[in-house]
Amino acid sequence: MNSNSSLIDKTFMNTLLFLLFILVSGCLYAQNSTSKHFKVESMSEGVYAIIHSPGGYAICNAGIVNLGEETLVFDTFLAPGAALDLLKIAVELTGNPVKYVINSHYHNDHIRGNQVFKPSATIISTAVTRELMAENEPKEILQEQEYAPQRLTQLKQEYETETDEKTKKSLLMWIGYFEAMVESHAILKTTLPDVTFSKSLSIHGSQREAQLFTFDLGHTTSDLILYLPAEKIVFAGDLLFIGMHPYLADGNTTHLVQDLMQLKTFDIEKVLPGHGEVGTSQDIDLMIKYVNQMNSLVERLAAQNVSSEELEQVHIPEPFDSWEFSNFFRLNLKFMFNSYAR
Ligand SMILES: [Zn+2]
Repeated sequence: MNSNSSLIDKTFMNTLLFLLFILVSGCLYAQNSTSKHFKVESMSEGVYAIIHSPGGYAICNAGIVNLGEETLVFDTFLAPGAALDLLKIAVELTGNPVKYVINSHYHNDHIRGNQVFKPSATIISTAVTRELMAENEPKEILQEQEYAPQRLTQLKQEYETETDEKTKKSLLMWIGYFEAMVESHAILKTTLPDVTFSKSLSIHGSQREAQLFTFDLGHTTSDLILYLPAEKIVFAGDLLFIGMHPYLADGNTTHLVQDLMQLKTFDIEKVLPGHGEVGTSQDIDLMIKYVNQMNSLVERLAAQNVSSEELEQVHIPEPFDSWEFSNFFRLNLKFMFNSYAR
């Protein structure tokens, strides 16, 4: 071996060690970047799932995408305090400023952190989502100021006396939900999106492209999803819940099944739901099964002409009886039953 080849070997080894260092420190960084509101999970190089932690003020999941020279954040949580941690971690993980913020739909737990990203970021949503935010937020905040403090006290009392671990975990989520509201109402500044679109929008970064597509009437009047074609990753917002009952009472289940079937036509390796852990397209199949099963159940109950008391006694069908947010099952059932009866 001559000195030249050993020099090349040395340079090669140094490069290899440096790359290994970057890789390992990147992974550790992802694990160390913590907040009491959420956990960080790497979905691909430069793409992160931000998953709500029980008791935290995030409530929904969020996503972070390094576009190359700038960063995109998908959904901004229920409380500005949790969103501030999201902003900090987005910059730490990518080394780039947050330039784009996406609101998947108008529900409070996906939009209330918007204000912490201003003035530097551009907030993007569908045109309908912006209208719904402008119309609903002031009313909802006023109503919440009325009922949230009392509900929080009630939930804390229930938590103290509850012995079932699964119910306790669910109560902890709702305590975080109402606590976040009560604590943030004084500082909340409704911050509407700056840019809106109707069907689809592409954001071209130097490193990757992020595509936004609208899906109407399924979960709310207007929802959007984010797709990363190179990584085959979808951020599905609340069109998809994983391991927990979805919230169906603000949409239309026929449209939701159509939306989910359409989502299935995308080439998907990983999917980040609005609530729950990261999954695959099999989780979209399971959500379709859930909605179809709920529809059949409601049809059967309507044929039997059940009373509202009997409706309260209906058991959650398998395999969904192990899912979290069981209170959403009851809520969905009532909503769908009343819509069916009309
Ligand atoms: Zn929602």
